[in-house]
Amino acid sequence: MYALGVDLGGTNARAAVVEVSTGRLVASAKESWTDRAPERAVQAVAALVGKVAAGHDLGGLPVGVGVAGMVRGDVVVNAPNLHWRDVDFGGPLAAALGRPVHLVNDLSAAAWGELKAGAARGAADTFTVFVGTGVGSAIISGGALLSGATGVAGEFGHLKVVADGGRACGCGEHGCLEAYMGGAKLTEWMQESGVQGTPADLERLALEGVTTAKGLYDFAVGHLALAIANQVTVLNPAVVVLGGGVLLRCPGMVRRITEVVMTRASVAARAGLQVQLATLGDDSGLVGAALLSRR
Ligand SMILES: [Zn+2]
Repeated sequence: MYALGVDLGGTNARAAVVEVSTGRLVASAKESWTDRAPERAVQAVAALVGKVAAGHDLGGLPVGVGVAGMVRGDVVVNAPNLHWRDVDFGGPLAAALGRPVHLVNDLSAAAWGELKAGAARGAADTFTVFVGTGVGSAIISGGALLSGATGVAGEFGHLKVVADGGRACGCGEHGCLEAYMGGAKLTEWMQESGVQGTPADLERLALEGVTTAKGLYDFAVGHLALAIANQVTVLNPAVVVLGGGVLLRCPGMVRRITEVVMTRASVAARAGLQVQLATLGDDSGLVGAALLSRR
């Protein structure tokens, strides 16, 4: 049995046919795009889905589409990376594809992919944190994604890590975790402080003991790690899944987070807890969007 998934990012769109029982990609295609007009996105995604679906007898199979933003029904309420606000994307896409479309937040999709086919297979309660350009999370409780009263639960990147003020965040507020730890903002902060390179370079310099680098690194990673430990205390997950471009490239961060979670989360909540790196890598969201469409 197959499922169809799409991962719509700020710079790339990917589509895949996924084997439901294993999460394996049977066919996949990718396209970069710079024109982020919603009509162009509909065309690009429709072309990608057509490409991967060719040669497979998929009938009227629905397609799951993961979007980096807040999603409600067919509408992308807010996707800062795409500069979309209140865009009806699902309706026109379903019309173009001749298939039902199931829109989902990209982190929810990633958490679902890791639950069904990755690091958290067999678990029912997980807390998934991805650090890439930004910081995002998703909560699965009792086998179901937690969405909250108005669908915005899990906005972990916008936890405040300083009591007053703090660095400006892309969300318009100040002092958010993402304003320090998101790949984009961390790189900005490094440049302002005279530390060149990527977050991976920051990790190397910090571990070598370069004072400025160590200051930034300890602040950013320390707050991320403590915030995850506190979520573990509140949510009592069986597995914490860590992923995203920054964490996948910075093993020192993963070690620090694991250490802090295992010493600072409540004793009861950390008993039996596993902290795992996402095993589907860049495919978590793609696989999860596909599998969510077949629930
Ligand atoms: Zn924010």
